Amino acid sequence: MLALYNGRAMSMIEGQVYRCQNRDCGCEVRVIKPSIESNSNPRCSCGAEMKKPYKTPVLRTLDPDSEILAHFKTNQQ
Ligand SMILES: [Zn+2]
Repeated sequence: MLALYNGRAMSMIEGQVYRCQNRDCGCEVRVIKPSIESNSNPRCSCGAEMKKPYKTPVLRTLDPDSEILAHFKTNQQ
């Protein structure tokens, strides 16, 4: 479905959680429908910028103990 956006870089991903940088606020929002026009972080209703509090688990594919890495080392010999 991402292909519908014609390869444009999106700053907001569906399901991504943003957290308000104002500690007194601490508001969190989840992206329901990504915007293709916005190229900056969203702003909270309190006026503070909202940022992604953590990386998406999808990006963590490499693990030092993974079988894929072990297989790669074997091929290097
Ligand atoms: Zn806020």
